[in-house]
Amino acid sequence: MLERTIMPKTGIHPTYEATHVKCACGSEFDTRSTHKGAIVVEICSACHPFFTGKQKLVDTAGRIERFRRKFAATDAKKAEIAAHEAK
Ligand SMILES: [Zn+2]
Repeated sequence: MLERTIMPKTGIHPTYEATHVKCACGSEFDTRSTHKGAIVVEICSACHPFFTGKQKLVDTAGRIERFRRKFAATDAKKAEIAAHEAK
């Protein structure tokens, strides 16, 4: 008998179901995934420079802005400590 069942083994695989994906650029699409519930991404094929062909800074989710704010706070604290130690 050469005939073999090539179906995935039952009971050991997560369910692979239709999932809705939402990108920070506003684009939405449906795919299939083992992920439970909707997926939120920051970049997709509709807005990534590789696909758009445009060279641009991708910061739709405001990550760079958040990073800069974080470091501004750190620098302010460092300056405060330095000023304190200088006394
Ligand atoms: Zn996108």
